[in-house]
Amino acid sequence: MEDVHLALVEDEPDVASFIRQGLEEEGYRVTWARNGRRGLEYVQQGDIDLVLLDVRLPDIDGLEVCERLRLHRPDLPVMTALDAVEDRVAGLRSGADDYLPKPFAFDELLARIEALLRRVDRAPRDRSLEHGPIQLDAAARTCRVDGDEVDLTPTEFDLLAFLMGRSGEALSREAIHREVWGHDFDRGTNLIDVYVNYVRRKLEEAGCPSPIETVRGVGYRFDPESLPDATATPEETEESS
Ligand code: CA
Repeated sequence: MEDVHLALVEDEPDVASFIRQGLEEEGYRVTWARNGRRGLEYVQQGDIDLVLLDVRLPDIDGLEVCERLRLHRPDLPVMTALDAVEDRVAGLRSGADDYLPKPFAFDELLARIEALLRRVDRAPRDRSLEHGPIQLDAAARTCRVDGDEVDLTPTEFDLLAFLMGRSGEALSREAIHREVWGHDFDRGTNLIDVYVNYVRRKLEEAGCPSPIETVRGVGYRFDPESLPDATATPEETEESS
């Protein structure tokens, strides 16, 4: 395998050592950070490709670590390891790309890491996509609304690209899960809904009414007809004296 460098942020030495050893046997390079502060330092200094992040950490809470990571490296894949259901939802809100409920089997961790790396790495399947004011550049993995860049995490980008690439179609939750997350270890969560809400909110904040509609009992659909025209009207402030 190509040289892939993982940062493992985990305060429990036994757990860290078990995971690290297993990953190194699979050919990954692993840097262990025993707390959140070190994890952030490693990511800022180095050539980290993916972060495995424990949530219960002694110094900076893992979810806050995730948010701070996003400020520096919005494109960096982050997977959180979580204990409780509430933590999972919080983990997703903080912008992680995937989560793994503890306790987990090593094989599952490995499969998820591979899936996450694959989808960040994979060659763009589509040319750039454009509907109304939204433009996705599949090669650069950027999203623009009326020309202004919208920061999307890898998962948010993939989700929007999948829905947009098949605009008008009602896509099932299973299909979205398989395509975007690359695995079907869905343990009965609202993973997709949380991410759809993220994307909707970011588009709305960028001034675009969300074209992602809920299809009851099925999943979601990107409705291109709901979008305004792409013509960006620069705001002209008229002097009213
Ligand atoms: Ca911990």
